[in-house]
Amino acid sequence: MIEVHFHNSLTGKKEKFSPADPKHVTVYSCGPTVYNYAHIGNLRAFLFVDLLRRSLKLLGYGVDMTMNITDIDDKIIRDSIASKKSVQEFTSPWTAAFFEDLKTLSAETLEHYPRATDSIEEMVDIVHKLKEKGFVYEKDDSLYFSIQKFRDYGKLSKIDVSGMQTGTRYDTDEYEKEDVRDFVLWKAPKLEGETSWETSLGTGRPGWHLECSAMIRKVYKAGVDIHTGGVDLLFPHHENEIAQSEGAFPEETFVGIWLHSEHLLVDGQKMSKSKGNFYTLRDLIGQGLDPKAVRFLLLSSHYRTKLNFSTDRIGEASSNIRKLQNCLDRLLEASPTLKPDPEFLFQDASVLTWKKEFEEALADDLNVAKALATVFESVKAANSFLEAGASDSSQRTEFIHLFSFYDRIFGILNFEYSKNLIDSEIESLIAERQDARKNRNFARSDEIRDLLSAQGILIEDTKDGIRWRRK
Ligand SMILES: [Zn+2]
Repeated sequence: MIEVHFHNSLTGKKEKFSPADPKHVTVYSCGPTVYNYAHIGNLRAFLFVDLLRRSLKLLGYGVDMTMNITDIDDKIIRDSIASKKSVQEFTSPWTAAFFEDLKTLSAETLEHYPRATDSIEEMVDIVHKLKEKGFVYEKDDSLYFSIQKFRDYGKLSKIDVSGMQTGTRYDTDEYEKEDVRDFVLWKAPKLEGETSWETSLGTGRPGWHLECSAMIRKVYKAGVDIHTGGVDLLFPHHENEIAQSEGAFPEETFVGIWLHSEHLLVDGQKMSKSKGNFYTLRDLIGQGLDPKAVRFLLLSSHYRTKLNFSTDRIGEASSNIRKLQNCLDRLLEASPTLKPDPEFLFQDASVLTWKKEFEEALADDLNVAKALATVFESVKAANSFLEAGASDSSQRTEFIHLFSFYDRIFGILNFEYSKNLIDSEIESLIAERQDARKNRNFARSDEIRDLLSAQGILIEDTKDGIRWRRK
């Protein structure tokens, strides 16, 4: 197994990845707040999770992954009241839209998608633990976490809490780094018609940060090997998750490695509704963009660099996909019935080198840019092989399997040979088949027979020679 390194946001260093059980790597990723369509910045973070998943699997790990659905928070309460719907009625179409987007972008399905509203019991348990340990105080029927009681507060975001005024607090789920204060764990209802739960903590609803700490516990009973999220969640959300989980369960390791994916820019600028550069996946598809090109672009920059989304970059992604697919189609043309085998054993020395370089790039903190350089180097070689006649069928098979190996990460290629042959191409293939038979090259002759049959073409030997017709 190749040694894997990840950049841990907690230590700011690249670290060797050594999970307790490589066959069962546990990963938790902060998921969507379901009150609207996800924008492409969110989708970048979700596709980063897909990249992590596919890379761990390709590198030989077993994975058990979770992405939560935040279906209760300030924005959901606000918008569900405004639309006169229950929280459940309001969030369920947005949750469905989120899953549709993941499917459109060919993201693999994870093992768990817990919903916050199904995890209230675990949240209440954590608050009781925190109360026992003296981290909690009450104000106006709501419960707050006193960050000065937690010695390690600020270790992830590196904020300085020393100048903070004791006892100042925030009720809202989101606030800025400059505004470091005590945060709310359990909120007493304030608005007319607000959804709340009757619990041993009193009537109320959870603060957003508490939800993730509880869902990790609900799924894994303890901490996780990897926790991911967009960089905008690092403070206060992840800092507060650490305070709650490590405060309540100091004897356990909460998170082995923290991974944060960077922002997405649109035409070099921060995306915002007021600038008119705010896009959902549906907007882009409505403009005629291919979801595969969107996927490829969102995956193609290193996750810790800002990614610029622009018409030029999308054009580039589409043309790179075409380059790969054209080369693959030409390889498949001579072997149309070949189905890539995930267990295929590579033999060719160059192919083995590319495969290894590809794996090593991913093992080095998911360096996709480097992995893609290897991909295009091998495409160039495959094109030269095709130019030279591509007569070596075992070499062709190696290339097809190499492409299929790459596609376990990118998920953009089509391995079903589907070209419609025109009459002159059919005739020249039949002539080539006759030659192949004459030269006792039965492998090639069989390949051509399969290719024609896959196209629905029937060949008949008659006394006047070979005839063909379409089925
Ligand atoms: Zn979260």
